Amino acid sequence: MGQIALKADRVLTPTKELTDVAIIVEKDIIKKIIPSNEIPQNMDVLYHPNTIAAPGFIDIHIHGYHGCDSTSGKESCFAQMSKSLLKHGVTSYLPTTVTQSQEVLLKICNVLKSVIKRGVNGAEILGLHLEGPYIGKGKEVGAQNVDFARNPDIKELMELIENSGNNIRRITLAPELPGALELIKYVKEKGIIVAAGHTNATYKEAILGFNAGVTICNHLFNGMRPFHHREPGIVGAYFVRDDLYAEMIADMIHLHPEVINAIIKMKGTEKIILITDAIAGTCLPDGEYELGGLRTIIKDGISRIETTGRLAGSTLRMDVAIKNIVTNLGVDLKDAIRMATSNPAEAMKLSNYGRLAPGCVADIVVLDSNLDVLITMCRGKVLYSTK
Ligand SMILES: [Zn+2]
Repeated sequence: MGQIALKADRVLTPTKELTDVAIIVEKDIIKKIIPSNEIPQNMDVLYHPNTIAAPGFIDIHIHGYHGCDSTSGKESCFAQMSKSLLKHGVTSYLPTTVTQSQEVLLKICNVLKSVIKRGVNGAEILGLHLEGPYIGKGKEVGAQNVDFARNPDIKELMELIENSGNNIRRITLAPELPGALELIKYVKEKGIIVAAGHTNATYKEAILGFNAGVTICNHLFNGMRPFHHREPGIVGAYFVRDDLYAEMIADMIHLHPEVINAIIKMKGTEKIILITDAIAGTCLPDGEYELGGLRTIIKDGISRIETTGRLAGSTLRMDVAIKNIVTNLGVDLKDAIRMATSNPAEAMKLSNYGRLAPGCVADIVVLDSNLDVLITMCRGKVLYSTK
């Protein structure tokens, strides 16, 4: 029947923890989850002792990896990223661009269209995430190139969507900019997810953005107006709304660990999304790298823009982000996994991703007791294994 039984001592679905079960995979789909003693005798069994199985990680905000930069628009980069990400348990992702000229973004859209059409032998590309170019020009610009930051332009965006072959799945913008609310409504109708980021939105402006269709706060606290008790800004708007997802870069540098702790205490774990915001220098030694045309220096694993010294993405890997919040903050492993799997899937409206359940895509990661990745199964195929 071409079925395989993947057995682990602990299976995190991730909302439930199951023990002594096997995940039955057929082709690229999870068929069912059964008690281990019910595995048919003639079925192939994949099992290593003392392991944890969880859904493959989903990174919805990642700029680069292992020498590759999404914004470079090089075709080979996407294939290489897809391959490198397997080692760290990522089975699907949104390559993320930074603020650039329309010409550069058009090129990336066209390249990505053909890469997706052809398919990759690695982590699945779920579509493109445009971070910018419709972002603020003040401090909130962060590591984005201010020269290309501009006001929302539906016509320009339409051209990008068309050239991508409708593969733009998410856009991050500043909701306070002229024309932003109109653009949010427009892309929402097309099924594109909108995040607010690199924004100086006041509380009022943020609420208007949320009401227009923003559903995610792009790396919460980073690249946005800080919280103030007389002008709570977008952070305060997030605090009082239960319907918003918030991304967090859990490298313990972008956010003080206790800030992550406080948010979890205040909001629970249902709508927090772990992202890496990783750049090309991730998994490589300290040195000089590039982020969308700007030179970045990585020293002691911390990436900064050479000219401004501002943090420029991260060198975080998703398996490390999970480990960080489990070991430094004592977050329950199930909850940590959820923030890297079912939460991002829900935020992106991908109902059959990010969960171990019948009918879901067979994207599965097997971890050892140190939470290191042993096996990464992508769409039913073991594409990475240390065993
Ligand atoms: Zn980013």
